[in-house]
Amino acid sequence: MKIFNSYTNKLEEFVPRYKGKVNIYVCGPTVYSYIHIGNARPVIFFDTVRRYFEHRGYDVKFASNFTDVDDKIITKAIELEQTEKEVTDKFISAFLTDVEKVNSRTDYIQPRVTEYIDEIINYIQRLLDKGYAYQSGGDVYFRVTKIKDYGVLSNRNIDDLISGARIEVNSKKENPLDFTLWKDTDVGIKFDAPFGIGRPGWHTECVAMIEDIFGEEIDIHGGGSGLLFPHHENEIAQAKALHGHSVAKYWMHNGLLNISGGKMSKSEGKMILVKDLTIDPNVFRLFTLSTHYRSPINYTDEVLNSYDKEWDKILRVYKALFLKLDLNDMLYGNAKIDPDLLLIYKEFLKAMDADFNTPNAITAMQDLVKKSNQLLRSSAEFEVLLSAMKLFDNFFEVFGLKIDVSPLAKEDKETYLLWERARKEKDFDSADKYRNILQAKGII
Ligand SMILES: [Zn+2]
Repeated sequence: MKIFNSYTNKLEEFVPRYKGKVNIYVCGPTVYSYIHIGNARPVIFFDTVRRYFEHRGYDVKFASNFTDVDDKIITKAIELEQTEKEVTDKFISAFLTDVEKVNSRTDYIQPRVTEYIDEIINYIQRLLDKGYAYQSGGDVYFRVTKIKDYGVLSNRNIDDLISGARIEVNSKKENPLDFTLWKDTDVGIKFDAPFGIGRPGWHTECVAMIEDIFGEEIDIHGGGSGLLFPHHENEIAQAKALHGHSVAKYWMHNGLLNISGGKMSKSEGKMILVKDLTIDPNVFRLFTLSTHYRSPINYTDEVLNSYDKEWDKILRVYKALFLKLDLNDMLYGNAKIDPDLLLIYKEFLKAMDADFNTPNAITAMQDLVKKSNQLLRSSAEFEVLLSAMKLFDNFFEVFGLKIDVSPLAKEDKETYLLWERARKEKDFDSADKYRNILQAKGII
């Protein structure tokens, strides 16, 4: 399996730190508002990564945090006349509802900053002890110049960064690139630390949580490309200072999701919240995964409609397979592998193994649609039909697509068989009668 590692800028063979195990961490949301469909892209993509590793037999440990301490949260709490906790509880729950809405799993480790204050303080203290951080007033800053290859992830050169940095009116810093580890504050939520009362900076959260949850360097660190700099660069700087490694062996970044050709922006009316999405989540997932994760996606109604039709094709053939097998009591029989089906499965694996090429993997699923239609038309053996259906099940599991089908009740099955027989015998009156019954029950 190959992964494009943003850290080395290369496609690399994936070798887990421990055989059969994968540790993944993805930066989560700052919880002060509802998420938009652009925020849903990493939620869907990294959920698919996790599902694929599981499909490949790996034992996956997956964590993604909630930033529940932040200036924006404090501003929101003041605006709503609520406590920060009331605000963050509300938006954490809203986030998880949205995650479920797009068929992503919520059974992962969900650390919150407020539950990790001791670990974060301890982390900062160790950076201070090793001389990688310094106190200035009540603030604590990271000494960027002490990291030799700072900028390696985002391909930036430290001198260019310094000359490009806006001249900040912050005389507290030794260097304009130094970032905040602890912020002295008297507004909003604050905590007691040996270096003063305040709150932690964003970049230390993730590394402190990763250290506590995973214990050491992880396999994969993910997030949106917007986090490359400064957030992930700064995570790496801190881990290098304390542990001499770059937090993760592989860094993965997803591209943006634009809307009608432009960036998602509230002010231009170009913003769709996940909670307001009215399309089938399966269609939205299919649409999101039909572009490679590192490329930008453009959301338009026309594109969405085309995926709606695509999903309908998949749904129809799947239901036809299911019904045929059900009517013949073959749903739980033995599957027989057909060479064409095996080829489709191999295409799928090949695509997913090539840096999670989901568009090609979806093409393999479309090939399965064609093949299944052929099999149904040619009255293929039930064992082969079952094998086609099971292959769909595997694809659905990895892509996070959900189909609601259940076997027919005994009585309905009998009606269906009577309808089929009446049609065969050209007994149109009976056929109409049975068809009406089946239609009324929504079976056909
Ligand atoms: Zn992070």
